[in-house]
Amino acid sequence: MSIFHGVAGKRTTPPLGVCFHNDAGSKNATCGFYSSWLPNHEPAAGFAHYYVCSDGILQAEDEKYKAWHCGNSYGNANYISIEICQSMGDIEVFINNEKNAIQLARRILTDYSLTPNRDTVKLHQDFALTACPHRSMEIHGGREPAREYFINQLVTPTTPKKKGEKDMQCFYTVDGSPNVYWFNGDSVRLLTHPDQVSILNRIYHDINGCDIPTYAFTSSAPWHKRLIQATVCEKLSASDGKIG
Ligand SMILES: [Zn+2]
Repeated sequence: MSIFHGVAGKRTTPPLGVCFHNDAGSKNATCGFYSSWLPNHEPAAGFAHYYVCSDGILQAEDEKYKAWHCGNSYGNANYISIEICQSMGDIEVFINNEKNAIQLARRILTDYSLTPNRDTVKLHQDFALTACPHRSMEIHGGREPAREYFINQLVTPTTPKKKGEKDMQCFYTVDGSPNVYWFNGDSVRLLTHPDQVSILNRIYHDINGCDIPTYAFTSSAPWHKRLIQATVCEKLSASDGKIG
């Protein structure tokens, strides 16, 4: 499995986390490319444990060995390195590789009983003066936002949400009118056909395992107006925050 056979030495203590890289390779820098290129590559020029590409994941070094991946002896010794490949190619391909790299990182952190956080999720820039991981930082808005994205992605799927928590939705009527309104979690819409209620509820049920809650509001207790006010207020404050 290993291409480099422990050339950088064996790790004496368990790894402290993962380190993400972007390979600065073109759309052709796939596993097919790396599997033929790496064996002829000078290890001292740098190599990572894993290369995540559109055609799969290539493991170039066993996890029990170090890798010369970040130009820093502490980082090389303590972090398992993941190259997110094809970083100079199509954005969709790169983003998909990034997602697969995060899945790989999740497996690694789990294997070593590590929790995703700033200490366990590193970027190449944490250890050396480099543009790496350039594409991830470009997409996510800088080094810390990129790290935050990785950590959030690593944490989120392991924290099951309560049913409906992610998509807070409801139907409601007002004063007994046949008009049905749909709050989609962001804004309110008047539905113009009963089938719209049926199909929205069916999809919601398939995803969440329960129906969209339905309320009958009245003008004497106008919760529907409060709902709209709350939605609008939220939007205003979000936009204020951006300006500030
Ligand atoms: Zn790097």
